[in-house]
Amino acid sequence: MANIAVVGGQSGDEGKGKMVDYFATRENTGAVVRFQGGSNAGHTVKNEFGQFPLHSIPSGIFTRGVKNVLGMNVAVDPNQLFNIEIPDIKRRNPNVKISPENLMISNLAHVLLPQDIMIDSAKEIKNGRGSTKSGIWPAYAAASARMDLRVEDLTTYWDEKRIREIYEDKNRQLNSFGLPNYDWDKFLSELYEYGEQLRPHVANVNKLLTDVEKSGKDILFEAQLGTFKDRDYGDIPNASSTNNIGASAPVQAGAPKIKLTKTIGVIKAYLTNVGQGNVITPMPSEISKVVAERGYEYGAKTGRPRECHWLDLVAAKYACDLGIDSLAVMKADVLNDLPYINVCNGYKLPNGTVINVGELESIKQIGDATPIYKTFDSWEGDISTARDWNDLPDNAKRLYGFIEEKTQTPIEYISVGPERDQTIEMGKQN
Ligand code: GDP
Repeated sequence: MANIAVVGGQSGDEGKGKMVDYFATRENTGAVVRFQGGSNAGHTVKNEFGQFPLHSIPSGIFTRGVKNVLGMNVAVDPNQLFNIEIPDIKRRNPNVKISPENLMISNLAHVLLPQDIMIDSAKEIKNGRGSTKSGIWPAYAAASARMDLRVEDLTTYWDEKRIREIYEDKNRQLNSFGLPNYDWDKFLSELYEYGEQLRPHVANVNKLLTDVEKSGKDILFEAQLGTFKDRDYGDIPNASSTNNIGASAPVQAGAPKIKLTKTIGVIKAYLTNVGQGNVITPMPSEISKVVAERGYEYGAKTGRPRECHWLDLVAAKYACDLGIDSLAVMKADVLNDLPYINVCNGYKLPNGTVINVGELESIKQIGDATPIYKTFDSWEGDISTARDWNDLPDNAKRLYGFIEEKTQTPIEYISVGPERDQTIEMGKQN
């Protein structure tokens, strides 16, 4: 029995969804739990059912018998979930079963309201930070101010006085952006519909996950965004509104009794960033273009092309030091046959100080730094057919070895393609 958090060791889009889908198929997996965030990002999962951009739904949804849980600190947008995401998955493949049998939602999860999306959009237009305009920060700001509605407020404890109070608070925020009041009757009928849609899925996650654990099954906690988007440890203000790191998973999921066995950090063999942020290792544009195209580097939610950067091990080690026990290194197949591969293993600050891997004290130091690279030769041919460490060319082995050595974190998985079988488990010979 194991309780494993799968987190992103970079800025997101590392391939967490692929790894969670892969782990979910293991015989002993009992539950996959999204523990934070909303529908503002997406994991692209490719398996025997097809290819799916998942926005809120946990990546265990394709595996029969697995309970997929939206935990306590998830901001649930019922409109997006029930009217857009689930119908989209079913349209892509009607054989994917999504029902109250395999999708559970915490009674304590935050409900993202239609006004949150309007407020997020208005603010983004005013001072753009690269928000996806999905309403996430207003929903979490309301939760901090205790002016939010939880799932149970719509399914069980309907209180019109409290709903009116929250409605008026949202109106004040809309008005501050020059927007008119939201229609009260429309709001009430939307909330009523949300309650109807949510009710069959509602669960006490503490009890649910304790029961999964008692039955001897494994629990996977799935992070939505990477460490650099963590609201406390990440690149503020270019971060998200929740913690994304492994140690926070059981508490945010709403099951604080569950103890993590380990945290697996997912990183790419290069780096991408959507929106703004401290990323200082840009690839030359002709290489970035090749990498973006081969790696299909377009945001799952926004369709925005991702800037491609060389792997930054100073940044990756910062993430490892926040509790990553082992690594899954993804997408080196995208680097096949490049003229060379750079890996950043130090920063030079404007005053001449050098920061080596393991010495980054604050993300603020990244902004002014110049990267120090170690240059590797690429390999000839395609590593996406490798199924074993011994199938990999020596130059690829050198790259993986350098990642392990510098981060002092063992690589447990190597992914060489989006499909499940394009995964090498280290220490397991085929
Ligand atoms: P996530 O949000 O961390 O799950 O990452 P995304 O889904 O946004 O981005 C990862 C993309 O890379 C998806 O399209 C995956 O199907 C794909 N992918 C995952 N692992 C690999 C890999 O090893 N090689 C290649 N070429 N693609 C991969």
